[in-house]
Amino acid sequence: MKAAFAVLLLGLTLVSCQASVRPRRAEDLTALRYRLTYVRVPEHAVDVEVVLVRDAPREFLFSQPGAVTTVAVHTEEGGVHPVAVREGRVSLPKGTRLLRYRYALDAVIREQGPDFFQGAGDGDARHVAGRAYLIRPLTVKPGMRVELAVSGADVLLPWQADEDGVYRLRGEDLVDSGFHGFGGRRCQVRLPDAVLDVAILGRFTHLSDAAVCTWLGKAAEEVRTVRRAFPHPRITVRVIPAPGHPGPSVFGMVRWSSPPSISISVGQDAVAADFARDWVAVHEMLHLTHPVFVPRVPWLSEGLATYYTEVARARSGRQDALQAWTELVDGFARAREGQESRSMQEAVSQDGFSLAVYWTGALFALHLDVELRRITGNTRGLDDVLELLARRGSSSTLGAFGAAVDAIAGQPLFNALLERHLSRPAFVEQAGLLEALGVQNGPNGVSLVPARDSLLRDSVVGRRSHGETP
Ligand SMILES: [Zn+2]
Repeated sequence: MKAAFAVLLLGLTLVSCQASVRPRRAEDLTALRYRLTYVRVPEHAVDVEVVLVRDAPREFLFSQPGAVTTVAVHTEEGGVHPVAVREGRVSLPKGTRLLRYRYALDAVIREQGPDFFQGAGDGDARHVAGRAYLIRPLTVKPGMRVELAVSGADVLLPWQADEDGVYRLRGEDLVDSGFHGFGGRRCQVRLPDAVLDVAILGRFTHLSDAAVCTWLGKAAEEVRTVRRAFPHPRITVRVIPAPGHPGPSVFGMVRWSSPPSISISVGQDAVAADFARDWVAVHEMLHLTHPVFVPRVPWLSEGLATYYTEVARARSGRQDALQAWTELVDGFARAREGQESRSMQEAVSQDGFSLAVYWTGALFALHLDVELRRITGNTRGLDDVLELLARRGSSSTLGAFGAAVDAIAGQPLFNALLERHLSRPAFVEQAGLLEALGVQNGPNGVSLVPARDSLLRDSVVGRRSHGETP
């Protein structure tokens, strides 16, 4: 009833728009108006113009500085002055009407080499991260609105434009503006509860665009074996050909724009059959199943995604249970090499994003899942922790993650288990855990045998199409 009334009012407003007096609309609250132009001559670049509309900030920032050294400031009086970018920051003088600069995409790629952030691409298509080329307000006032429009190329940004082609954003959308794709081709994946808009940013020698979208669609379906629904109604994925790489995915990354944006580089000479063994796409999409940890906890986010990469591919039937356990055991072994007696705490704090970060985290995720199932008689598990956290918002802390684990367990579990892992030699928990699960590693490889917790083991990787415990 309420909705019908609102629609009626909207109808009246639209009719009144035809009068000469411009009605007050959302855009009246717009602080900044961005205009991006994709330039091809003499080479690829993006021209950026930012108009200060009302109540606009005057302090700006390139989150990843370096490629733009000055911006041109246009004053209310009609003057134009260069203003230097210092440590990524730009302070606009009083009386500024707008600023302009060019992000010299191809020159940056030539100087720095192709890179997901500063620029990459093939033919007429380019990939670049907002943090490198798109200046943003240093601080964002609550309620700040921004309009953004793009000309010169079909573009794939994390957001959706309105029917006029204008992106109506919140100021905070620019804080991490994610990955952007200019030009290229598009395909779309439709899931029962989500859409993936895909940009293919270059030529592949063997792959069709349909094959690329089929591959991404299967990865997204695997994410749905962990969560009850796909974590976002719409996400964007950019696919970049990597020359000289014959295999499937070479590298992937997710940026926490709102909604998140994913980019993956794929061997330019890959064939569709290669995607059967690809894990990169599902790994990146599995990052969408957990909250963003603030401050960052790489061993936890990578541990969850790494553990579920094997679990989800078994749940979907892409690999059988034995393969999944073999992948986990092999991963633990690769990461364990050279750790000697280093504790997990030491291993994850010394190495940035090392194998130890991924696989000590994956072992801990497995252990958490198994303990939750033991305590609850195999009625709850790690999937339920992710579901609970998703209801609480898009970001979390390590402490709140632990509290969610304890809530699902119905008793304190997290802190004691974490302490056991962090303070003792990395992977020391592996042997006892796998023995209880009946995962044996012998001279002929991994075998699955009856054991105390082999029922839990089979529940973890059992076939399913939706996240549910067991
Ligand atoms: Zn990852």
